Amino acid sequence: MTVDIHTLLLVIVLMGTVLAVSVAVVAHQDQRDGMRYWAAGLALHMASYVFFSQVDALGQFVGLFAAVVTRACAWALFTRGLFEFYRRSAPRGLIWGPVMAEVVIFVLLYEQAAIRFVVVNLISVFQAGLALGLMLLARRHTPGRGQYFLMTGLVMATVLLSFRVLDVLRTGSVGVLDASGNNPVQVISLLGVLVTLVLLSIGFVLMSKDRADDQNRQLATQDELTGLANRRHLNQALTQEWARFKRSRQPFAVVMIDIDFFKPYNDHYGHLAGDECLRHIAQVIQSGMRRAGDLAARYGGEEFLLILPNTHAEDGQRLADAVRQSVEQLNLPHAKAPLGRLTVSMGVAAMVDGGYVDALALLSAADEALYLAKQGGRNRVQLAQKATVSAQVPGRLLPLVWHPRYESGNLVIDSHHHRLFNEANRILDVIVAGRGVAEMAQHIDNFVADIAEHFQEEEAFLHQTGYPGAVEHARLHRDLLDQARTLSAQFKGGQLLVGELFVYLTQEVVARHMLTADREFIVFLHPAH
Ligand code: GH3
Ligand code: MG
Ligand code: MG
Repeated sequence: MTVDIHTLLLVIVLMGTVLAVSVAVVAHQDQRDGMRYWAAGLALHMASYVFFSQVDALGQFVGLFAAVVTRACAWALFTRGLFEFYRRSAPRGLIWGPVMAEVVIFVLLYEQAAIRFVVVNLISVFQAGLALGLMLLARRHTPGRGQYFLMTGLVMATVLLSFRVLDVLRTGSVGVLDASGNNPVQVISLLGVLVTLVLLSIGFVLMSKDRADDQNRQLATQDELTGLANRRHLNQALTQEWARFKRSRQPFAVVMIDIDFFKPYNDHYGHLAGDECLRHIAQVIQSGMRRAGDLAARYGGEEFLLILPNTHAEDGQRLADAVRQSVEQLNLPHAKAPLGRLTVSMGVAAMVDGGYVDALALLSAADEALYLAKQGGRNRVQLAQKATVSAQVPGRLLPLVWHPRYESGNLVIDSHHHRLFNEANRILDVIVAGRGVAEMAQHIDNFVADIAEHFQEEEAFLHQTGYPGAVEHARLHRDLLDQARTLSAQFKGGQLLVGELFVYLTQEVVARHMLTADREFIVFLHPAH
């Protein structure tokens, strides 16, 4: 394959110009990520190839000197841009020293072409290596993968420059500088320059974009004043935690925190001091988070919320109390508070089996507990009243009591009714004993299956006796069962309290149906009733 060196140089110059202009356009005036240096570096890099290709017109000394100096300046600008990107102060000597060295070496060793070429290129290797080293040091703190394009470009540049040096050392001549010949080393290295240029430009732009994306992500989820998670992030985390609970039944706790007497603090010390204080307390709260999954968020003005995965109420309470103590030990003076310093009150609620209907109910339990903590004198942690089923459906969980009046006279139907009454009462025992959802669900499934079986037999019986409302009665059964199954699924999905389901099954399906609808056919069977 023959490649025309002049065409290749022209392509490099054209592409270098397009890339330099593109990067310059992307760079914003006020953006402190070094992109302007990078664009200038690309432009100089391209200029060095213009000088190199015009050696004949400019004369060897001037053409090569300009090419060497502009290339050295290009590397200095790349490195300068990287320092700015990483927000580090740029050591001038390290950046511009090699440029000075190139000038001196070029002039002093001009007559010894091979040695000059080796030293000049080794200095460029040093410059590219410096940029690469800087990137490697900072790579853990640099978001995104754009940086790896750039690093690949820098590695390629280092390899290409070393490759040229080795070729000159091997052959003892600088054929590589011959712009008119068709030296394979020259062709490979110029093709390499093309790829390197693309990697360097795209890499830097991507790296800058990755960082901007990362900052936007943070802004979208972080509270500006305190640096804690914001309300939006909190809602997402809570939804996730709720879904995880439904999947795995692992408990989790929430802690609602409110600063005590904060209004008087603001009134006395001013709003700015109040803000400063919020920042201090947020820091203490954040450092109180023990596990990776724990989340501290700013819930509202001077209220914070913690979400603690895999945490029982008592453990949540313990952690909350440690945070409360740390805030007290901060000793932030508060002339208008009885204790003379800033304190916080907290309410803790945990989501456990048979607990709250939804995340909102859990939060209001924590909020109620916080209210109690305030009532109890502030600077304290209050655990929410246990979310037992009986507490949530007070007075409605009653056992069914059989009465002879309920008898139809048909022994089979009556024994079924009787059995369902007993079964309902056994479920009530399981609920009151506070057993797990799985056990309750098993009992309820059996109960619903027995009701279905009973309905079927009753329908067959009604059909036999020629009861005129048989079809209507069967439809009633179907509706009751459909609803029972829907509610049962909701209960298993954590969207319905077991108490609500129990009330429906026993009061609506068993008791009310038997006392109203079933009575009609009892009267039909025994008109004397
Ligand atoms: P309590 O002990 O009952 O909580 O009394 P309190 O005065 O703290 O009452 P409350 O919690 O209702 O106080 C809310 C006050 O918090 C109102 C406002 O002055 C202050 N506040 C809310 N958000 C901010 C904020 O972003 N910055 C500052 N400086 N103050 C805030
Ligand atoms: Mg408040
Ligand atoms: Mg308050």
